[in-house]
Amino acid sequence: MSKVAQYLQEHLLGEVSTSKDALRHFSTDHSIFQVEPSIVVYPANEHDVRKTTRFLWQLAERGRVIPMTPRGAGTDTSGAALGNGVMMVFPAHMNRIVELDLKSGRAVVEPGLNYGRLQQTLHTHERYIPSYPSSLEFSTIGGAVGNNASGERSYKYGSTSAHVRSLRVVLANGEVITTRRLSKRELGKKMGLSTFEGDIYRKLDAVLDDQAAAVDASVRAVSRNASGYNLADIKHRDGSFDLTPLFVGSQGTLGTITEISLDTLEYNPETHLVMASFHNLDAALAAVQTVQHSKLQPSSIEMVDYHLLDLVSKLNPNLLKSVLPPPLPKVVLLLEFDDSSERARKKGIKDLKKLITNDVDRLIVADDPLEQALLRKIRHSSSILMSHSEGRLKPIPLIDDAIVPLDELPGFVADVYKLFADNKLQVALWGSVGDGLLHTQPFLDLEQLGERQKAFRLLDQYHKIVNKHRGSLTASRGDGRLRGPYLAAEYGHDVYTLFQKVKALFDPYNFLNPGVKINVTTDAVKPLIRPSYGLDRLYKYLPRS
Ligand SMILES: Cc1cc2nc3c(=O)[nH]c(=O)nc-3n(C[C@H](O)[C@H](O)[C@H](O)COP(=O)(O)OP(=O)(O)OC[C@H]3O[C@@H](n4cnc5c(N)ncnc54)[C@H](O)[C@@H]3O)c2cc1C
Repeated sequence: MSKVAQYLQEHLLGEVSTSKDALRHFSTDHSIFQVEPSIVVYPANEHDVRKTTRFLWQLAERGRVIPMTPRGAGTDTSGAALGNGVMMVFPAHMNRIVELDLKSGRAVVEPGLNYGRLQQTLHTHERYIPSYPSSLEFSTIGGAVGNNASGERSYKYGSTSAHVRSLRVVLANGEVITTRRLSKRELGKKMGLSTFEGDIYRKLDAVLDDQAAAVDASVRAVSRNASGYNLADIKHRDGSFDLTPLFVGSQGTLGTITEISLDTLEYNPETHLVMASFHNLDAALAAVQTVQHSKLQPSSIEMVDYHLLDLVSKLNPNLLKSVLPPPLPKVVLLLEFDDSSERARKKGIKDLKKLITNDVDRLIVADDPLEQALLRKIRHSSSILMSHSEGRLKPIPLIDDAIVPLDELPGFVADVYKLFADNKLQVALWGSVGDGLLHTQPFLDLEQLGERQKAFRLLDQYHKIVNKHRGSLTASRGDGRLRGPYLAAEYGHDVYTLFQKVKALFDPYNFLNPGVKINVTTDAVKPLIRPSYGLDRLYKYLPRS
């Protein structure tokens, strides 16, 4: 055991491990990368996080920089839950619901809490967090905050950031701060502090004022965004100031979150689900736009394309037979209505029918949970693709989270189909089409050097397509190592330089999850690709249909 590990073991309440197995286990997340940590820390409490961070800061002051990576369940697909220094693993101990105030709906939780467990607990009180990712059963709430995760209902309710009220964060020097929206007066007080926290408020406020044009330019014209740093929501016109939106989605690169305060919403298990199938892609996308421009408020609009349906019906012929008799449609849309009153839901569906009736081939409305479960199999069939392999070819989470403005969607989809055709790859699209967010995963054999090179060529080409359509490379899964190299091109020089300034302000010694999101180059990440990419620890959850 190294001296650093020994010191930590002597001073922490939680465990410290350098066992080969543990290091190997934490050397992968659900991205295509592999980076082995040198020490695994299981913090027992915030004090352990503070102590570890303070120690690493002191080492960095003396010129010895050891990276630190906070980690939830490690389901990240961008390579952001990996690092070669200290791996700070939260689910072991820091996994409690600290407080649940049913009157205000406020939940205070520790970051290592399993998201599904939190959601189940909330359901028993008829409450929930609507921005849950589809990975909730096997991921943590800390990871969702780290990535600014989102899911199907984010169409109506926004991403994680919309529901986080305040955070406790351990800063790079070990100081603990609580973030929340501060009035102008409260901000003044913070700026008067002679601590690292005071320094951050002073410098950040000055930099945001000075670079106001770049702050404005950092806003992408999309409804969800997990790329870059959220600078635009820190300072409001009334002078109020909040670091919370900045930490949400920062992937552990600015500070380590030890407690999260969330607003929960009333949970209504009664929904109406509409399945609309189309024999024409343009008609389906036009229908999505019509709904978006109308007064209708579905809670989600999800899509599955013909290619996915075709693949799934070949792999598992019985799965969709009862809901989608042949011939398969070009596109299926699933629209959910979650209004609390049945009357409002029914009216929504009546209006929807009027709006899209000319374009749609078949329309099924389900209010019965069993019937809905059958229809939802269509959307969940993407997990059949994800857990499928063809020889050594596997679907790779490489170009799977881009989001574009809705008016760009038809052109974007056409370009993505062409990209796959040009590269002789099998294509399939699915996702939250109502937001302009579509996933796809090319089948590649990463054991072959040529295929690994192809992966980066694909990423380059995909990135250009997303930029052409004014989109963001990641709606919900973060830049990490995978998309970090494209951040400068996505945002342009001024905004990217501002991101770098903010990172340096919070992390002057660059040890908070370095090599993630910011200052990442393709040359640095190429050697990290693991030939043996697989869903490993997820097979017990997939496929879910
Ligand atoms: C099959 C599959 C489906 C998925 N579906 C979705 C989806 O629908 N929507 C979606 O948004 N994502 C999805 N993801 C990606 C991922 O599961 C989510 O983003 C999830 O919220 C990450 O949680 P985690 O606990 O695994 O976090 P991790 O992977 O452990 O970490 C994620 C990021 O958060 C940081 N982090 C973790 N804890 C802390 C902390 N305490 N302080 C600061 N930073 C921290 C990490 O350093 C890392 O950068 C999916 C992934 C898979 C494999």
